Amino acid sequence: MLHIRPNYKNPNLKCYYCSHNTPAEEYEETQRLYFIKSGLKLWLGYKYTEVEVHIPRCKECFDLHYPKWKVHFYRLLWLFCSALVFFGIYKAADLEPSVGVYAFAIIVSIGLGAALAGFIAMIFNKRSPKKGVRPLGNNDEYAPIRRLEGLGFLDYKPDPSKGSAYVNEDLTPDDIESAFKQIKAEDDCIISGL
Ligand SMILES: [Zn+2]
Repeated sequence: MLHIRPNYKNPNLKCYYCSHNTPAEEYEETQRLYFIKSGLKLWLGYKYTEVEVHIPRCKECFDLHYPKWKVHFYRLLWLFCSALVFFGIYKAADLEPSVGVYAFAIIVSIGLGAALAGFIAMIFNKRSPKKGVRPLGNNDEYAPIRRLEGLGFLDYKPDPSKGSAYVNEDLTPDDIESAFKQIKAEDDCIISGL
């Protein structure tokens, strides 16, 4: 996997979310981008390049994005969603009580509960936590991400069974190479894992 990191040694580096404070590495956000390697059009056996972009963030924005009450709230929400799913499975499947059946239903419930809570959290997180501060996940305007998405990198794992996975098939390795050069030179980022 490739990593694109901001240059924390640059004294002018600003937090992406408030564009004001000095960011620190321990508070950074990460976002993964995916790109299907060209020439592989088979439904099976496709390969993609994965890039993890590290986004500079300050402590203030980190605390706004992950306030303590929110962490507890989402844990409760997870628990609640899991219980709901468990109850749903139990009712729908009319299960014969046994340890194996309960264990299976609990594991499925925890997984689905996490997905459901994550989805609800995603909707809440789209809201700006404070005037002038970008919400969590609003990363499209971060320069390296903007460049890579402009080339056709996706912010979700591509599914080759859907046409959207092939939007970037005309892209050449040279295009990617020149984008990486811009990210290094103009956005002052460090790329590792090449
Ligand atoms: Zn900030």
